[in-house]
Amino acid sequence: MTKLTTARDIFVDGLRNAHAMEKQALSIMEPQLSRLEHYPEVSALLDRHIRETEDQIRRLDDILSGIDESASTIKDMSLSFTGSMAAMGHSMASDEILKNAFANHAFENFEIASYTSLITMAEISGASAAVPLLRASLDEETRMAKALHDSLDTVTRRYIELAASDERADI
Ligand code: MG
Ligand code: FE
Repeated sequence: MTKLTTARDIFVDGLRNAHAMEKQALSIMEPQLSRLEHYPEVSALLDRHIRETEDQIRRLDDILSGIDESASTIKDMSLSFTGSMAAMGHSMASDEILKNAFANHAFENFEIASYTSLITMAEISGASAAVPLLRASLDEETRMAKALHDSLDTVTRRYIELAASDERADI
């Protein structure tokens, strides 16, 4: 195989993995929305990012159909890393809010790495039309990762305050 053919195959696999990653992202974020009564900033971030994630899935579908791979064949195999993150998202431990904050942070950084690598794959594959779409998604992940990082101080302080009062800290 030529380098170009190899790069294209790797790119298509990468796009499929990213599609599965984004589906996993939705399954991690959506259940958290209903359990963030005391953390409205986090709730707002997740709400916005769920809508961005839906756009990201559409972009991946568009890129895949643009390079002649049927989007309908996407199997969405779950990745071991993202699978374990999802498990954390469903845990009901009393410090669930903190564990979810760490898992959300980790997940966004996983996505940043994935889109950064996909942009390189697109460039080497000659799929230049895909690059601005992947950059748009990368920018959203970067913004979300920073917002989650910036929220950790507030979330931790509120968690301790609520835990020290009669209020439930974990919702
Ligand atoms: Mg994403
Ligand atoms: Fe994301």
